[in-house]
Amino acid sequence: MRAPVSVRDMADLNEPQNVSTKYPGPPFETPKVPGPASISDMDPRPDHGEDSYVGHGRLEGRRALITGGDSGIGRAVAIAYAREGADVVLNYLPDEQQDAEDTARYVEQAGRRAHLVPGDLSDESFCTDLVSAAVDFLGGIDLLTFVGGRMPTIDGIEDFETSNWQNVVDVNLSSLFWITKAAKRHFGPGAVITVTSSEQAFQPSPSLVEYAVTKAGISNWARAMAAQLASEGIRVNAVAPGPFYTPLQPASDPKQKLENFGGSGPYGRPGQPAELASTYVYLASQEASYTSGETIAVTGAIPIH
Ligand code: NAD
Ligand code: MG
Repeated sequence: MRAPVSVRDMADLNEPQNVSTKYPGPPFETPKVPGPASISDMDPRPDHGEDSYVGHGRLEGRRALITGGDSGIGRAVAIAYAREGADVVLNYLPDEQQDAEDTARYVEQAGRRAHLVPGDLSDESFCTDLVSAAVDFLGGIDLLTFVGGRMPTIDGIEDFETSNWQNVVDVNLSSLFWITKAAKRHFGPGAVITVTSSEQAFQPSPSLVEYAVTKAGISNWARAMAAQLASEGIRVNAVAPGPFYTPLQPASDPKQKLENFGGSGPYGRPGQPAELASTYVYLASQEASYTSGETIAVTGAIPIH
């Protein structure tokens, strides 16, 4: 078997180019992985902007707590925030320690500070402790960025399990309430909350009902919380990714969907995490000061609203 290469090796990243061929499309060779998957399970490896993201000081001195910050979209956001001038605290599951340490190294190479706080977002007391650990390290929180989430595939209502449903709701949705409640008194002026919704919030797949409902809830949460917090100068927005090439897929999808991942959309390929980071940076920056309660879709021309 050949060694996995990075999609970075296949793309000429900084030249204007045909967006549908900028990165590879299916078939992909990544095998299915039980439980949380790692970047090292993927073939080819995703592009999180390690060699391409260029910062412009847009988040200078900001203090960011990022969930799901070890891999995929969260890693791309962590690298971009750091190169824009932010220090970061990263949350992830303990099994993903290696991915998290690699992400922290990229943050430190950007001249910023990183602190790792593994733990389970389905646990309310852990969520409260996570905020305390972030405040201890950062001295406050300016950017609260929720990227962590679970996506179980459940084919039929016969297989619905209350315990699984409760866990998906807690990881994807309840953690927003728990962490925001604990973090609010530590927010600095102009604090920004960004949550990660999905195309599934608007175009749900039959086998992703539980997940899709939480993602619809996340977009709704952003809209409601934006209004609740506006008078205190806090903005709240959501990003709704289409198909992105991350460890979420080998951890969640059936083998056939994995092989053809992202192939059915107009681009004929999935997005790479590097193609999403600038949306989070935009929302976090003061350039977006009049943008709140919005869900920005980044889907490679798949219409979702
Ligand atoms: P990913 O696997 O790299 O990231 C998901 C992260 O969630 C994991 O790394 C893990 O750290 C974290 N996580 C999962 N369960 C957790 C728990 N119980 N406690 C703490 N952390 C937990 O995959 P990704 O695609 O970068 O996913 C990031 C977000 O993007 C997710 O919310 C996902 O729903 C959303 N999203 C992804 C896609 C896609 O196609 N990849 C599309 C739409 C939305
Ligand atoms: Mg991970």
